[in-house]
Amino acid sequence: MVGKILKVGVLALQGAFREHGKVITELGHQYKEVKLAKDLESIDALIIPGGESTTIARIAEEYQLIEPLKSFCSKEKVWGTCAGLIFLAKNVGTKQTTLGVLDVTVKRNAFGRQSDSFIKDLNLPFLTNPEIPFPAVFIRAPIIKEVGADIKVLAQLAPQKIIIAQKQNIFVTAFHPELTGDYRLHQFFLS
Ligand code: GLN
Repeated sequence: MVGKILKVGVLALQGAFREHGKVITELGHQYKEVKLAKDLESIDALIIPGGESTTIARIAEEYQLIEPLKSFCSKEKVWGTCAGLIFLAKNVGTKQTTLGVLDVTVKRNAFGRQSDSFIKDLNLPFLTNPEIPFPAVFIRAPIIKEVGADIKVLAQLAPQKIIIAQKQNIFVTAFHPELTGDYRLHQFFLS
């Protein structure tokens, strides 16, 4: 059940953008792949998917998307998952380009390699049916070690192992929420 039908963009430079597209469509919203600055003009919200943050950044630079994305982040709803979180963060401890719009310090690959991927059931009281755990898929996932002023920590595995945070219109999750068939985080973001 949707209220207002939203046009939801997913940054489609690299990574798991199609999987988000499927969830958006199944929730009754419109999916738009964002590859160029003009694609940002017609959308209500943007998801920056998981993938490889250095590659996403390199292509975004090549396509002259950095400034348009920053400007979108200053006013519209944006959700960064995994590499998308890294791409939004201010401090990542490496020289890679990021949008730097969310004042968090991130550690990349905080849980090891691809073969160390895992699914963890999270208790997320802000979702609908909060008694049902959310299955979070961690694939070479980052963690947030520190957050700046006014950033809400919505979930952490331990102190300084933050995995969901929000500041006003910017929402971030360290894991892949689009891979399990549980659409509650997408519903939360789009509500
Ligand atoms: N480790 C990747 C990076 O640094 C992120 C992994 C992912 O998005 N699943 O960009």
